[in-house]
Amino acid sequence: MEKLKHVESISEQEKSEQREKTYLEGRRHCCVFCRSFKLNKGAFESHGIGVFCTVSCHDCNGVWSELYELLGVREIMHGGCTS
Ligand SMILES: [Zn+2]
Repeated sequence: MEKLKHVESISEQEKSEQREKTYLEGRRHCCVFCRSFKLNKGAFESHGIGVFCTVSCHDCNGVWSELYELLGVREIMHGGCTS
């Protein structure tokens, strides 16, 4: 009974944080709500130095944003400037 009460007292914020943790730890690209792999990714949009992408689920119609952060730079071609 005590355990059930505890589960009921978890707020939506806490549930959301748990889903985020599972999502990031899982390293699998599936729905945060129902774990379906039928996802629709939107365009990447920049936001400061971060980038986010809106993703939706075909199975449960859930929608969330994936947040990306700049991790490094890989030089591909020197542009020719001398400075
Ligand atoms: Zn889903």
